[in-house]
Amino acid sequence: MHMHEFYSDTQTRPTQAMRQAALDAPLGDERHDADPPTTELCARVADMLGMEAAVFLPSGTMCNEIAIAVHTRPGDEVICTRESHIIFAESGGPAALSGVMMCPIDVERGLLTPEQVRAHVRPASAHAPRSRLLIAEQTANLAGGAVWPVAQLNAVAREAKSAGLATHLDGARLLNAQVATGIPAAEHARDFDSAWIAFTKGLGCPVGAVLAGSRDFIADAWLLKRRWGGAMRQTGVLTAMCLYALDHHIDRLAEDHDLARSIGARLSELPAISKVHPVESNIVMVDLNATGPDARETARRLREQQVTVTVVGARRLRIVTHLDVGAADADALIAAMRKI
Ligand SMILES: *Cc1c(COP(=O)(O)O)cnc(C)c1O
Repeated sequence: MHMHEFYSDTQTRPTQAMRQAALDAPLGDERHDADPPTTELCARVADMLGMEAAVFLPSGTMCNEIAIAVHTRPGDEVICTRESHIIFAESGGPAALSGVMMCPIDVERGLLTPEQVRAHVRPASAHAPRSRLLIAEQTANLAGGAVWPVAQLNAVAREAKSAGLATHLDGARLLNAQVATGIPAAEHARDFDSAWIAFTKGLGCPVGAVLAGSRDFIADAWLLKRRWGGAMRQTGVLTAMCLYALDHHIDRLAEDHDLARSIGARLSELPAISKVHPVESNIVMVDLNATGPDARETARRLREQQVTVTVVGARRLRIVTHLDVGAADADALIAAMRKI
C-alpha cells in the first residue's frame, strides 16, 4: 500500500543515484582519516558552515549531545527554547550524558531575542548554576519550521558570547533556511562556536550528520565520538551518499517549500482547520477546530486513508514535505482531510 508520508522528512528512501554513489565509493577507515568520501564530506561541511573542522556522526542527536558535553561541565546551565529538540526528543541526554541543567525559555515561534538571553544569564554566584551554553535551532522544528532572521540569530549568539557563554546551532534543517532565505549557511552560523547539518532530513540520506567547529572543538568531539561508540570504519558507503546529496539535493529544497506553502494555503480553506501557522520552509503546522475530532483522532483517520502526519499537540498537527512527496500526495492529503 502506498503511503503519503507527511509524517517527517526523515521518511525518504535513498534514490538510485545515491545508492550508486555508495557502491562506487573508495573506502578506508575513518578513524585513521583514510576514508576519502568522509574526509571530503567533513572538509566541505566545515567550509559550508565557515568552521575550521568537522566530524561525521551517526545522527543529529549525537551532534547535539557531543556539542553539549564539549561546551559544558556538569552542573552548568544551557539556555534554549522550551520547544527545542534537545529537550523534547533526545531522551534526557543533556542530563544523562553531560549532567547539565536546562534553562528553557517560552517563546513565540521558536525565536529568542537578545533581551531574553540577557534576562536568563545568571550572575556569577556560588549559589547558582553557571550559565554556560546557548543553543538555537535553525529552522525551529516545533515552531513549524520557522526561519530565524539571520541578523536576529547572530545577535542572540553575540549576546550569549558577550556574557561568556558558548554557542551551538542545531542545524537539522539549516539548509532549508539557506534555501528559504537565499543566505549561505555560513552566515547563519557566523557567531556560533559549533553547528551541524543533518543528511537524513531534507537531503534525503539514510544515515548521518556532520558537526563543525574549531579544530580544538572537533578534537574533543572525536574523543566523545569514540567513547560513546559513534566511531565507525568504512563510512564512505554513507558519506558518498551525503556528498551526492550536497551536489544534487540542496537547491531542490525550494520545491519542498513551494509544496508546503501550497498545502498550507489549501488547508486554510477547510472548515476543520482553525489556523494554518505561517509556512516558512518545509513544515506546515495546523490547529484543528475545537468542534471536530482532536489531533490524534484526525491523524488516525488520515492514516486509514494512507496519509501520515505528526501529532504535536492536542489540536495541532505537523505536515512535512520532502523528496518523496509531490503534488499527487498533496492532493491525497487534502482529499483525506476534506473527508474528515
Ligand atoms: C531531527 C532533529 C534532530 C536530531 O537528528 P537525528 O538525526 O534524528 O538524531 C535534532 N534537532 C532537530 C531540530 C531535528 O529536527
